[in-house]
Amino acid sequence: MAFSLYVHIPYCRSKCPYCDFNSHAAATWPEDDYTRALIAELEARSRERPWSGDCLSTIFFGGGTPSLFAASSIARVLDACEKFCGIEADAELTLEANPGTLDAEKLRGLRRAGINRISLGAQSFKDETLKFLGRIHDAEQTRRSARLALEAGFEHLNLDLIFAVPGQTVEDLLCDLDQAAALQSDHISCYNLTFEEGTPFFAALKRGRIRPLPESVEVRMYALARRRLAELGYAMYEVSNYARAGGRCRHNLTYWRAQNFLGIGAGAHSYASLGRGGRRWWNERVPALYMERALGAGEAQSGCEELNERTSAGEFVFLNLRLREGFALDEFAQRFGRRFDDYFGPIPAQLLAGGLLVRDNGRLRLTERGLELADAVAAEFV
Ligand code: SF4
Repeated sequence: MAFSLYVHIPYCRSKCPYCDFNSHAAATWPEDDYTRALIAELEARSRERPWSGDCLSTIFFGGGTPSLFAASSIARVLDACEKFCGIEADAELTLEANPGTLDAEKLRGLRRAGINRISLGAQSFKDETLKFLGRIHDAEQTRRSARLALEAGFEHLNLDLIFAVPGQTVEDLLCDLDQAAALQSDHISCYNLTFEEGTPFFAALKRGRIRPLPESVEVRMYALARRRLAELGYAMYEVSNYARAGGRCRHNLTYWRAQNFLGIGAGAHSYASLGRGGRRWWNERVPALYMERALGAGEAQSGCEELNERTSAGEFVFLNLRLREGFALDEFAQRFGRRFDDYFGPIPAQLLAGGLLVRDNGRLRLTERGLELADAVAAEFV
C-alpha cells in the first residue's frame, strides 16, 4: 500500500515569537549536509517494514522554512524518493513556503523538481498583524508569491491564516479571508493563535504584556470564518481546513485518518499501525545531532512509544472526529475487531442529545456546535 512521507527542514530566517515548532533561526544553513542526511535516512527506512516495497502517495516538505532550500536540493530528495520508494504518478507533493523567501525562478525550479502544491504561510494580509506576529514578509509579498506560484504552474495552492491575534477585529479577519480567496488558492487553513509554553508570546502573556482576545470573540471569529469561507466556495473538511473542489490536502488527511506515515529530518515524527495497536517514534531534534547520526548510521531516532489497542482506538476517534465527515463505524469495527459501542459503551447522552455529536448513515461526526468544542468532545474517547 502506498504511504505518506513528511520531510522536515528545520531552518528559518528568524524565529516567530508564537512558534513552538522545531525550527531554528539561521543566517546560513548546512544545506548539502542536511540534504545528504535526509537521503541517507530515507534509504535506510525504505528497507524497513512497513515501508519496504511500498511507494509514496504524498510527500510534504514542512518546517521550519523548506523554501529556504534551493530547488536543486528539493529535487535531490525527490529523486531519492523515486529511487528508494517510487512515487505514484498522481502523488501530491507539497512544499511549505514563506512568502519572504520566494521568487519566480525558485518557484519554477520547484515545479520542475516535481512539487505540485505550494503551501504559503500568509498568516494575515494586514501588515500591522504580520509585524506583531514577527513575520519576515508583508502582505504584498504574499500576493506576489501566490501569483507567481500560479504562473509557475502549481496545481494546488494553500494559504495559511491565523486568527484571534490580539488587536485583530472581526472585520480584519473577514478581509483576510476575502483576500486569500481572491488569490485563487484552492485551500485555506485557518488556525486560531495559541500561546504555547516556551515561546516569547507565552512569556509575554504571563507577564501581562499581551492580552489575548476574549474567548467569546474567538468563538465568534471561528463561526464567521466558517460561514464566510463557505460563501467563498471553500467547504470545511476539517476543524481548521477548507477546500474548493479537488483541493483537500491528501497528505494531512493521512494524519486525521490515523494512517501510516514516515517522517524524516530533525525532530520528525512517524506512525505505523501494528495489528490493532500502533507505534510512534521521533527523531533527534537538534539539526547538527540529527545530521551526525543520519549520515553515520542512516537513522536518528531519539524515542518511541508503543500504543496498545485501547490507546490506538482512542486516537483513531480523536483524530477522525476532526474531519467534517467523521468516520464510518464499520471502518472502526474492521480496524479494531469490535463494534464502536462494544468498545466505548453507549455514547454519553450529553454528546448526542446535547447536540455535539451526530450518528447517521453509519457514521459518527461532530455537529456545527460540536466543532467549537472538538477537542473536548473527542477527549471523551481517549
Ligand atoms: S516561519 Fe514558520 S516555522 Fe519558522 S519560526 Fe515562523 S512560524 Fe515557526
